[in-house]
Amino acid sequence: MTDLAERSDTRTAPDLRTALPGPKARKHVAFDHEFTSPSLPRAYPLVPVRGTGSTVEDIDGNLLLDFTAGIAVSSTGYAHPRITAAIEKQARDLIHFSASDFYLPVYAELAAKLAEISPIKGPARAFIGNSGAEAIEASIKLARFATGRQYLVAFIGGFHGRTYGAVTLTASKSKYHAGFGPMLPGVYHVPFGNAGLDELESRVFKRLIPANEVAAVIVEPIQGEGGVRPIPQAAADAIAEGCRRTGALLIADEVQCGLGRTGRPFYSQALGLQPDLMALGKALGAGVPIGAAMFSERVAAAARPGDHGSTYGGNLLACRAALFFLEELTERGLMQHVARVGAYLEHGLRAIASRQPSVTAIRGAGLMWGLDLNHPAASVVDAARERRLLINRTSDTVVRLLPPYVITEKEIDEALPLLESAIASTQEGAQG
Ligand code: PLP
Repeated sequence: MTDLAERSDTRTAPDLRTALPGPKARKHVAFDHEFTSPSLPRAYPLVPVRGTGSTVEDIDGNLLLDFTAGIAVSSTGYAHPRITAAIEKQARDLIHFSASDFYLPVYAELAAKLAEISPIKGPARAFIGNSGAEAIEASIKLARFATGRQYLVAFIGGFHGRTYGAVTLTASKSKYHAGFGPMLPGVYHVPFGNAGLDELESRVFKRLIPANEVAAVIVEPIQGEGGVRPIPQAAADAIAEGCRRTGALLIADEVQCGLGRTGRPFYSQALGLQPDLMALGKALGAGVPIGAAMFSERVAAAARPGDHGSTYGGNLLACRAALFFLEELTERGLMQHVARVGAYLEHGLRAIASRQPSVTAIRGAGLMWGLDLNHPAASVVDAARERRLLINRTSDTVVRLLPPYVITEKEIDEALPLLESAIASTQEGAQG
C-alpha cells in the first residue's frame, strides 16, 4: 500500500465542533450568495478550507470524512505530500506556456503514459484540455471530422457536462436543457441498456437517420449522475457491434468511472470495450483541473494542425499533477488499493442493504457506489453530514459514494455505521 493516506496534521479523525453549518459557514454562505452566479447548483452549505487524506476541514474547524472526493476528483485525497511537492516544484520552474503552440515535455509524457493504460485499440493519442466537458467537446469535433458524418447518438440518463455540445449529449435531468435551446443539432437519445439498442434500430435508424451517417455513439460505461448504473454487458456488446457494423465511432465517457475508480484503469476494460475515443477528467489531476480526449490512429489520421487547440489545455501544473497521479495509480499500488478497499466497501454496503429495508438496490464497482432508496436521498445526505460523513445524491432517491482512492479500511469501518444510522433515522416510520 502507498503512504498516500499519511497526514501531517494531528487532529485528523472526523469531529464536529459546531452544528452544521457553523457560524462562520453561515456568514460565508450569505457573502457568497451576494456575489456569485445563482446558477451554481450548490449541494449543501459546506465551506471546506483544508484537508488531509480523506478528511476535510470546514471553515468552523469541523472535520468530516469525505465520501464525495469533491465530486469524484480528489483521487489522492487532500494534501498528498508527493503531489503537492511536485506541483510546488513545477510552479517554481514554469507555470504556463501554451501547449497548443509550443512543445511542453510534460504534455507528451502525460499523453504517452495515458496511452500505456488505454483500452483504445492500437496506438492512442491525447488532446489535453481543462475539464471533462472540454474532453467531450474535443471528442465530438474529432468524431465528426474523422468520419465526415454529423449525427451523434447518446443515452437517456447520461451526463457529459455543461458546455453546449456536452450538455446536448446530457440527458439525465431536463433542467440542464431548460431555457438554453436550441441544442447542438444532430443528437439522438435512446434509453440506456438493451431496450435503447432496439429503439436505435427500430426508431432512429429506420425512421429518422440512416445508420451510415452516425459519426459516433457516446456512452458512460457506468452512468454516474444517472444513478451509478453500469451498462449491462449485453448492451455494451451490442453497442460495440453496432459501431463496427455502421462505421460509427465509439466514444466512452470515462470522466467519472475511469482512471482507476473501479479498481481497473478504465471500466471499458471490464466490459471488453475498445473505444475509438475516450473522454477523461476528474481523478486525473488529483484536484488540479484537467481533461483529456484520447483517440485511435483512425481518428488521428483525419486531424490537421489548427483543427483544435486551447490556450490553457495541458497546463504544466495540471500535467505534472496528472503524471504523479498516474504514477501512484500504476506504479505505487494505488489501483490495487482501490480494488481491495472497494471490495471491502461493497461487502459493507451489501450488509447494510440486507439490514435496511429502505435500501432497494446497490450498484457500482470499486469506489463508485449508488444506493437506491425508497425514501428521499436528500434526508440521508443531511443526516450523514450531521454524523460527520460527507456523501451526495444523484437524484431524488439515489445516494452516491465516491471516496478518494486513498480511503482506508479503517475509515470505511468508521463511515459505514454513520451511513447506516443516517439511512435508518430517515426511513419511513423512523422516530424522530
Ligand atoms: N462526463 C461525466 C461522466 C461526468 O460525470 C462529468 C462531470 O460530472 C463530465 C463529463 C463533465 O466534466 P466537467 O464537470 O469536468 O466538465
